[in-house]
Amino acid sequence: MKGYSGKILHVDLGSGTFEVEQPEEAFYRKYIGGSAMGAYYLLKGTKPKVDPLGPGNIMVFSLGPITGAPISGNARHCVTTKSPLSGTIMSSEAGGYWAPELRFAGFDAIVVKGRAASPVYLWIHDGKFELRDASKVWGKFTADAEELIRAELGEPKARLALIGPAGEKLVRFAAIANDLRHFNGRGGVGAVMGSKNLKAITVRGTIKPDWYNPELFRTLAKAGSEKVNAEGFYKTFRDLGTTMNVDWNSDIGGLPTRNWTMGTWEKREDIRAETYRAKMMDKYGGTCWACAQSCKRDVKGGLEAPWKVEARYGGPEYETIGMCGSNCMISDLPTIAKANEICSKYGMDTISAGGVVGFVMECFEKGLITTKETAGLDARFGNGPALVGLIEMMAKREGFGDDMAEGTHRLAKKLGNAAMACDMTVKGKEFPAHMPQSKRTMALMYAVNPFGPDHVSSSMDGEFSGEIGETDKGIGIYDTVDFKELGFGKAKAVAYTQRAVSAIDTFTVCNFCFNTWTIFSFEDLVACVNAATGWHYTVAEMMILGERRINMLKAYNVREGFDSSDDNLPRRLFDEALIDEGAGKGQKVDERAFLEARKAYYEINGWDPVSGNPGKTKLMELGLEWTIA
Ligand code: SF4
Repeated sequence: MKGYSGKILHVDLGSGTFEVEQPEEAFYRKYIGGSAMGAYYLLKGTKPKVDPLGPGNIMVFSLGPITGAPISGNARHCVTTKSPLSGTIMSSEAGGYWAPELRFAGFDAIVVKGRAASPVYLWIHDGKFELRDASKVWGKFTADAEELIRAELGEPKARLALIGPAGEKLVRFAAIANDLRHFNGRGGVGAVMGSKNLKAITVRGTIKPDWYNPELFRTLAKAGSEKVNAEGFYKTFRDLGTTMNVDWNSDIGGLPTRNWTMGTWEKREDIRAETYRAKMMDKYGGTCWACAQSCKRDVKGGLEAPWKVEARYGGPEYETIGMCGSNCMISDLPTIAKANEICSKYGMDTISAGGVVGFVMECFEKGLITTKETAGLDARFGNGPALVGLIEMMAKREGFGDDMAEGTHRLAKKLGNAAMACDMTVKGKEFPAHMPQSKRTMALMYAVNPFGPDHVSSSMDGEFSGEIGETDKGIGIYDTVDFKELGFGKAKAVAYTQRAVSAIDTFTVCNFCFNTWTIFSFEDLVACVNAATGWHYTVAEMMILGERRINMLKAYNVREGFDSSDDNLPRRLFDEALIDEGAGKGQKVDERAFLEARKAYYEINGWDPVSGNPGKTKLMELGLEWTIA
């Protein structure tokens, strides 16, 4: 078989044993990789209602068919597991350098089960594998553990997917880091790794993948580089990265501010892309393996005031600036970079961490939390030292940090009804930094997405509000939909683009490189799949793949007892209009329109319009009859 390694490594941490599976090509064609492959193993290998932090949960680290091809956007891997934050299945992707190294080490995926009796790390190199004692690195920050493990192995080029102290302490939104600045950030996948006493998966390889048509990669890589280097959007995106979202979102009243009660902020200038670039960076940002788009943010060395910020942990992306910055009303970039550094070294999701702090700040201002809980910190909005102090407390589970580490939803329930009104989560997972009040696509997507609120599981409103592009037409979207509409047209656009993005995630490619607006199109994507494998993949088959993955994720959640009652939004979004004086002023989500759009979304997907769950017919159509109980 071309492209793939053809091997999946199964590791039982409880017994310390291994098994190498060599699936048929038909398995790869149907489940491809990413969280479709992950959901397959989770559905087959775990019992319903399994404790996400117990030994019965499993973790799947999986690649796609093109991972490791020398072209932008092919350096990602997915972690699939049951989330300790949401109780749903979790699909958490990361870029960086780890994924291609796993392919060069000879594997397409790793399935981890059980719990080790004491801390271990997994060492995989050129087809070989072993578990090694990790007691010396347990408790260490991500950077220190990475350095020590590389030194112990004598492999300075080894790549590590590892957890920090937050994962070890089972912070429910702990992340897995690779190369210190790339994260499987969302949903607490790092806590699951911690619960298994697994500090790191270390990989190193020299096995060259056998591509069917490597020439195609060379041609596309050259074209991609030329686009990024020419004057225009892609060059600007390289220079400014995701921080460009500060302006884009603020312009439509969608920059989360003051725990989701405002969508514009007078201090936007202090945190916007150009300010970040000028103040915080002295060169272009970082990149992922082989990526010309190079969108990552750095911080320059020598930042000392008001905080000493370690450059090796990279810089905050837009999501961190939105959630730890504007949402907490912090406009000082070094403070936000410090919050980012703490999350990176302890291994913690910056989106959830910022969401928890925004919630705590609102509760503090309302008198629901006092300095008694915050260990003396004046946790009002805008207080930088409070942001940094609270994040450190939750990373260590120290004092009140122990409650914060449980996530906003569990903390709100503990504090009572008044606090519940400030809880901005769906399925217990904090929102990313895009406001449903101003982006109707996100109102729908945050509610219905199987693994909770996510900003990169479908396209957003601007894509459909003008002339429809050829790539969208190619997946069945022809009609312009008003930016502010929330009805059938929006539901259809969300459902169709969700299928496309679902396929992108299953191929484990970067959706900043392969999308409707990026250097590579969907046609380029399937051309890459064919160049890797020799298949005759099409965009139509890609859409079926995307739909299959979504239905697999849903099937898992149905097994866990989820239904449409969980596909809802916090009351604040329906009841409270935004209070800022800018573009956000007065915006909220129309509840009736939302419920109609949700029903339409279910129907477009062929699901039950009341329960929102896939029925037998849809599952059989997608070849998922084996998921029916
Ligand atoms: S576009 Fe950005 S996130 Fe995507 S692969 Fe390139 S550097 Fe990584």
